[in-house]
Amino acid sequence: MPELPEVETIARKLEPDLVGKTIKSADLRWSRTLATPSPKKFKEQIQGQKIKEVTRRAKYFILHLSSLRPGSGQAFSLLIHLRMSGDLYIRNSTTQPEKHDRLVLKLSGNKSLIFNDTRKFGRVWLTANPENVLGRLGPEPLGKDFTPQWLYSALHEKHRQLKPLLLDQTFLAGLGNIYTDESLHIAKLHPVAASDSVTLKQAEALHEAIRRVLKEGIRRNGASIDWVYRGGEFQNYFRVYDREGEPCPVCRTKIRRLIVGQRSTHICPKCQSVR
Ligand SMILES: [Zn+2]
Repeated sequence: MPELPEVETIARKLEPDLVGKTIKSADLRWSRTLATPSPKKFKEQIQGQKIKEVTRRAKYFILHLSSLRPGSGQAFSLLIHLRMSGDLYIRNSTTQPEKHDRLVLKLSGNKSLIFNDTRKFGRVWLTANPENVLGRLGPEPLGKDFTPQWLYSALHEKHRQLKPLLLDQTFLAGLGNIYTDESLHIAKLHPVAASDSVTLKQAEALHEAIRRVLKEGIRRNGASIDWVYRGGEFQNYFRVYDREGEPCPVCRTKIRRLIVGQRSTHICPKCQSVR
């Protein structure tokens, strides 16, 4: 499942091909891909929109579109969440759609933006109020609101196991299974440790670890693992994730696989002992 670095990589890769283009028409090939508005309204509202900017928030890919009506000040955003198997890419408009293409946006310049999604869990929103979709998300881990002090306080407001809490997008946005396991290993914290047992020093280490793994993930164009995205190479640099039975890069102890909150979890039993 794509996490923050993978979505960031896709956004950066597509940006030069999208900014400045006009959306000529939309071909919605699986109507349930669209969360809002209705398919009819969607096609009407998106037609003729110009793409002003491409960004990311948490695991959402966002196209910022031109104003609804000139001078109205109100503008639409197209939000796409890739979920389990979604992928986005550019194709020549003349190429035939593929089986799992869910949405095709025909752009000026004879190009199309394709949302392809084998497992159909991905969703698309066209809205003038993106906060309705994004408002409940926690802070952006590479943003300025995510500080060691914030993390320490937020961990102590809860009494939850560390890993499920870090995966909770309303707590902190963008982390998934891979980057959480990697962060906890760097910070030498056990995934089931109680959030309110973490010391200030440990919270500082965790803060630094989260930023470090996300930045490294972005630098390596994300990880190409168990989903359709095939561009990255961070999977070659995992410390613990998916490395059961292999040696810990710090102490050579064999990596162990556990289930925490129904999620496959990888730890070094020596470096990450339970408090
Ligand atoms: Zn170790």
